[in-house]
Amino acid sequence: MRPEESPEAKYDRLKKKIQDSILTEYPNPERKGCPGNSVLEGVASGFSDERVESDSNWEHITHCSECYREFLEIRRNLKQAAKRRRTILRATVGAVVMLAAVAGLFFVSRNHGSLGPQRPQNAEVAYHKIPIDIATMERSDTTQRASSPILLDAGPDELIVNLPVGSKAGQYEVQLLENQRPVISAHADAAIRDGTTAFAVKVDLSKIPPGSYTMYVRQVPWDWTHFPVVVR
Ligand SMILES: [Zn+2]
Repeated sequence: MRPEESPEAKYDRLKKKIQDSILTEYPNPERKGCPGNSVLEGVASGFSDERVESDSNWEHITHCSECYREFLEIRRNLKQAAKRRRTILRATVGAVVMLAAVAGLFFVSRNHGSLGPQRPQNAEVAYHKIPIDIATMERSDTTQRASSPILLDAGPDELIVNLPVGSKAGQYEVQLLENQRPVISAHADAAIRDGTTAFAVKVDLSKIPPGSYTMYVRQVPWDWTHFPVVVR
């Protein structure tokens, strides 16, 4: 016994022993019953332990030293060809990975180089602050409607809504209606600072066409007050 021998080494040694015995114990110089080179190639190229046992030629190959020698030769050539293909594939994959890495570096350096004046990203849109003073939250259809419309710039706006003196803090609601149909709707919490109750609400007025609208404001859940606005 060889205590140091690995299972693979043992397998290889036994395989070599069996191969050597086949190569010496079945001499067939007259090549009686030999299936021919193309059959040997077919068996060798489709070789697998499961398939080969059902191959009728396998019995001859393992009992004919000449055929077995040719069979081993074909197997060796096939293995070397497969190894060459694997080497080429590895080299190709390596080259592709290299190219990708170089392209990545190029991309990074290009982007890095183009860091000029930064435009605001989506997460930090530049909101145009528009103060809106509401004189009264009374349900008056006349006084506020009669006043000249509040002008709103089309675009991302932050409406700073200053509520009438004495308005309560809490949740407020803002809607923009076009022909009685709400096109913008938003909620915000009003807070009292320096005696003024106000809330800020961000709306994107670039999403609606310019024109005349009616802005409705209310403290939830109380009545609405409304006044004309023009989005331009
Ligand atoms: Zn033979």
